[in-house]
This record gives sequence, structure tokens and C-alpha cells, in this order.
Amino acid sequence: MGRKKTLRCPTCGSLVTATDEEFPFCSDRCRKIDLGKWASGVYKISSPVLDPDVLEGTEGEPGQRERRDDE
Ligand SMILES: [Zn+2]
Repeated sequence: MGRKKTLRCPTCGSLVTATDEEFPFCSDRCRKIDLGKWASGVYKISSPVLDPDVLEGTEGEPGQRERRDDE
């Protein structure tokens, strides 16, 4: 039985053996990259991304105020 248990690093796709220190990642760097993806919401689908710049642009825009008609 010379079978080694290997997986592919979820970040870069390199082969990783189960005895590796950073298993299932090939390195500490790849693990941090993967954690960063979760933290930044890449895997989240339910929450929409709100761009603060877009919100600012729609508020207090000149020319969009109520127009006064002089009768
Ligand atoms: Zn990797």
C-alpha cells in the first residue's frame, strides 16, 4: 500500500498531501488567500454589493429638486 492521500489546493490547484502542515492548502499563503475570499464575501450570494459612491451620487443632486411653477 503505497497510496498517499492527496488533494488539490483549493487556491492554486497544486497537489497537497494529507501530511502537509497547511493541508488542504499547499502553503500558508494559499490558505490566507482562501480565507480572504470568504471574508470579502466572494462566496456570499445573498447580500448585494452596495457601492457607496453610487449612493452618494443619487442624493442631493442639483437640478433634481422640485420645480416651482410661477403662475
Ligand atoms: Zn496553493
